[in-house]
Amino acid sequence: MFRVIFWLLGLVVIISLLRGVIGIIFRGLGELVNPQSNQPGGQRPQNQVPLSGELKKDPTCGTYIAAASSIHETLGGETFYFCSKQCRDKYVASLAR
Ligand SMILES: [Zn+2]
Repeated sequence: MFRVIFWLLGLVVIISLLRGVIGIIFRGLGELVNPQSNQPGGQRPQNQVPLSGELKKDPTCGTYIAAASSIHETLGGETFYFCSKQCRDKYVASLAR
């Protein structure tokens, strides 16, 4: 009888620990991928919201991708997010023209 209670308590502790660890990992990844969000005094795009797990629109194909897992490129002080290198290259090429 008591064993079951201990098991449940242990499970709850383990799950909350895992959640904490996963949260820390995701925050760390977000900062690695998007280090500019921490720069003071840098020119920030107006529509940039400091939120992890944020969705960004790929300006080339219109797909929405998570900012943390996208390919991003800063052009003229504004950061753009792309689903693939092909999309990024296309967009850069269209600007250069
Ligand atoms: Zn794309």
